[in-house]
Order: sequence, then C-alpha cells, then structure tokens
Amino acid sequence: MIQSERIQALNSREPQQGDYVLYWMQQSQREEFNHALEYAVRTANEHEKPLVVFFGLTGTFPEATERHYTFMLEGLRETAAALRARGIAFSVQRCSPEEGAVAMSRRAAAVVTDRGYLRIQREWRERAAAEMRCPLIQVESDVVVPVDTASWKEEYSAATLRPKIGRLLHEYLVPLERVSLKHNSLYPDIPSEPLDNIPALIMALGVSRDVIPVRWIQGGAARAKELLETFCREMLSRYNELRNEPSLNLQSVMSPYLHFGQISPLYVALKIREHSGGSVDAYIEELVVRRELSMNLVRYNENYDRFTSLPEWAKRTLGDHGYDSREYIYTLEELEQGGTHDPCWNAAQREMVFLGKMHGYMRMYWSKKILEWSPSPEEAFERALYLNNKYELDGRDPNGYAGIAWCFGKHDRAWKERPVFGKVRYMNEAGLRRKFDMEGYIRRVEDAIEKERRG
Ligand SMILES: Cc1cc2nc3c(=O)[nH]c(=O)nc-3n(C[C@H](O)[C@H](O)[C@H](O)COP(=O)(O)OP(=O)(O)OC[C@H]3O[C@@H](n4cnc5c(N)ncnc54)[C@H](O)[C@@H]3O)c2cc1C
Repeated sequence: MIQSERIQALNSREPQQGDYVLYWMQQSQREEFNHALEYAVRTANEHEKPLVVFFGLTGTFPEATERHYTFMLEGLRETAAALRARGIAFSVQRCSPEEGAVAMSRRAAAVVTDRGYLRIQREWRERAAAEMRCPLIQVESDVVVPVDTASWKEEYSAATLRPKIGRLLHEYLVPLERVSLKHNSLYPDIPSEPLDNIPALIMALGVSRDVIPVRWIQGGAARAKELLETFCREMLSRYNELRNEPSLNLQSVMSPYLHFGQISPLYVALKIREHSGGSVDAYIEELVVRRELSMNLVRYNENYDRFTSLPEWAKRTLGDHGYDSREYIYTLEELEQGGTHDPCWNAAQREMVFLGKMHGYMRMYWSKKILEWSPSPEEAFERALYLNNKYELDGRDPNGYAGIAWCFGKHDRAWKERPVFGKVRYMNEAGLRRKFDMEGYIRRVEDAIEKERRG
C-alpha cells in the first residue's frame, strides 16, 4: 500500500507522449520495499509504457570519499541486477543527478522520484521540477511515517515527536505490495555505466581517495538482510539491556544501509516486529522515533549543519563558557590521528577511521570530548561534523547532524552548570569506566582493526 501522504507533485506539468515513464532513483537505492519504484511501475502501467530507472552518479557529492562511493556502488550493482530481473532497464550515468534526470525526462511521459531531506537533495529536486516539461512526482520511502505527516514543525525533542509518531504508526507500518510491470524496458538504446569494475569507475569519477574502503562490510540489500537476520537471531533479545556496552557491539549495523537507501526502514521495522519482548520497543524507538526526529530536524531547520541550529539556551550557555580555561586543547590533526591523552576516546576515533563505524554509545562520548578539547564550541561543532562525515560509512546523514547537535544540547534539556559545557550535558572517562568494560572495548577495536588489515 502506498499511502497518499507519501506522494507529492513537485510541479504542475501535464503528462507528455513519451517513450517511457522514468523513475529518477536517488535516495532509495533499492529494488525491494521501495514505494517510489512501485508507484513508478503503476504509473508506467497506467500509461501503457515501459519503466526506465535512472541514477545520476556525480563525483562531487559533498564530503563523499572513496569509502562511501565503494559501498554505494556495491549496492547499486545489486539493484541493477534486481531491476533487470523484473524487466526494468537501469541507467547509471556519470553526471549531476538533476541535470541527468532533466535530460532523461525529455523522452518521458512522467517522472517519479524518491525523497531525500538534505539541502542538496532538496535543491536537486527543486531544479529538476522547474526544468522538466512533464510531471515530477516525489514518493517518500525512507521513513516509516512521512515526515510532514508526523509533524508540520521542528520538534523540540524525542518526547514531543514520540506521541505523534505513536498515533500514526499502525497506518504506516504496513507491508508494500509489488506491482507487476506490463511492458519490459530492457531495450538497448538506454546507455549505462558498467558497474562491474567499481575501483575503475571511482577513479574515472575523480573521487577523493584519502579515505579507503573498508573490507569487513559490503554494500547491498542482500548483505543488509543477512546482517539483520543475524541480529534478530543472536542479539535482539539483549539489545535493550546491552546495546550501550561498547565492548560487546550489540548493534544491528543497519545505519550504512539505511543511509544509502539500500534497505527500507519499513522492512527493518516489520522484521523486528516479528519478534517479541522489551527489546523490540527499544529498537523501534531508535529506528523510528530517534531516526525520524533527525529527518524532522533536517526538514525544518535550514541550519541543521551549523552551530546556529542549536536551541537558544544551548548557544547562550556555551557562549557564556566559551572562554573557560580548558585542561586539554587539541588541534584537528591531533584529534584526527587519535592522539589524545584518553585511550577510550582514541579507540573510538580509530574505530571510525579504520573501520568506518563507531559504536553508538561511544559517538556521544567522542563528540562531547571534542566540545571539551576544542578552542571554542563553534569550532568543536565543525570539527565533529567534519570527522563524522569524512570517516563514518553512515556519515552525511540526518542522523549524523542530529547526533552531533544533540551533544551540543539539541533535543536535550539543561543540566547542572559546569565549566566549558555550561548547562549542556557532560560526560567523562571515569563515568564510562564505571559503567562499561572499557578495556574490553579498546581490545575489541584493536582486534577488529588488525583483522581488517589482514583482510
Ligand atoms: C555524535 C553522534 C554522531 C552520529 N552520527 C551518525 C551518522 O553519521 N549516521 C547515522 O546513521 N547515525 C549517527 N548517529 C546515531 C547512532 O549512533 C547510529 O545511527 C547508530 O550507532 C548506528 O548503528 P546501528 O545501525 O548498528 O544501530 P542500532 O543500535 O542497531 O540501531 C538501529 C537503527 O536505529 C537508528 N538509531 C540508532 N541510534 C540512533 C540515534 N541515537 N539517533 C538516531 N537514530 C538512531 C539508526 O537508523 C540505526 O541504524 C550518531 C550519534 C551521535 C551521538
């Protein structure tokens, strides 16, 4: 079922004659559980046309590195095969996505696209909608509850969004049916980049090569589903109790797949709901409430990637303590190299740099310490975002912007006032060591890095 709230016309053009219906795939990079794709199949059938799927591959996506491109292209290769098996041509072209989509739309009766929330994704869609001569319809598929339906304004915190999502969940947490395509589109005049040699394609794109791919995890829906199954079988029952314990890594590893739209949050939520127990609710809280709070932030706060996005109380208190003396101040290079006095922080930084995915609990500590050890809160905010987006496989995501902003007071409340942090929530190494097996965490990270090096 595709609820009408997921569907939005981005312009008011009339359908053209056209050779095909086009699905401009951008955010939802998958064949399965993709509302935009199923809507496009339905539209193609209504027009008695074949469906062509297009993906514009730009080498200049902000802050994307070889690590990100490799993971994304592994996923797209799998998506291409899955579409082919359904009789749908998949055209990957090296171009700016919106320009490529406009060019492809000249032969289209109508164009369907998916929804992305970041500034660049919105701008691409706006430009394409203005330039296309046929309809451009956006179908939202990478959230469980459509963002504008959940709330029409920027939410204060998870506590304010939770009841709104809770009231709507039963309407949207329903499976998506596959629609059979009437007209095969596998004819030969749609050009596409070959996806069999990913390193060569990345080279041709001129992508920054200073962050190398990781080998312990591969992109693609098949691997995402395998990991999810393992998580449900072996870890879910202990998730509520132990997900914060850094030495155990009791997490589902869905975030890189969700970031690239290789797996649908709806699919993940439905799989999790096949189980029972307190951990199911805890997982749904993270996947739906917390994750969709991030989408809410990026959707309604124009400054989501800037210090100015923070609530007034947080900016004021951090400003009041901006000149407090700091016991340690590190340069960006010292932080990047994991060269601080704190072995727990260094391990977290190394986990991110060498493995591309830091443990969820450590992300909070990591970002709080950047605030403590930087010359100013504004610079700390920029540094945390820069490092997060450069090295995390799931970086450059609404969750990353919200996660870092949270460490600076967003979606949180004021706490007891102290130096440097002011009233922003504080974390320290002694607290970490009291609650968790930090030596076990450091060992786990070093073992995983060693394994990664050996390949
Ligand atoms: C400073 C900081 C930076 C972060 N940067 C990113 C980032 O760049 N990209 C990113 O996807 N997440 C980020 N997070 C959120 C969270 O840490 C990760 O989503 C989570 O660790 C991903 O691992 P997982 O999929 O194995 O998590 P699981 O624990 O298995 O959770 C399942 C899913 O729930 C969602 N989720 C879990 N925790 C959170 C959370 N705190 N906020 C929002 N959604 C959550 C994610 O979509 C996740 O994939 C950040 C958090 C903080 C505090």
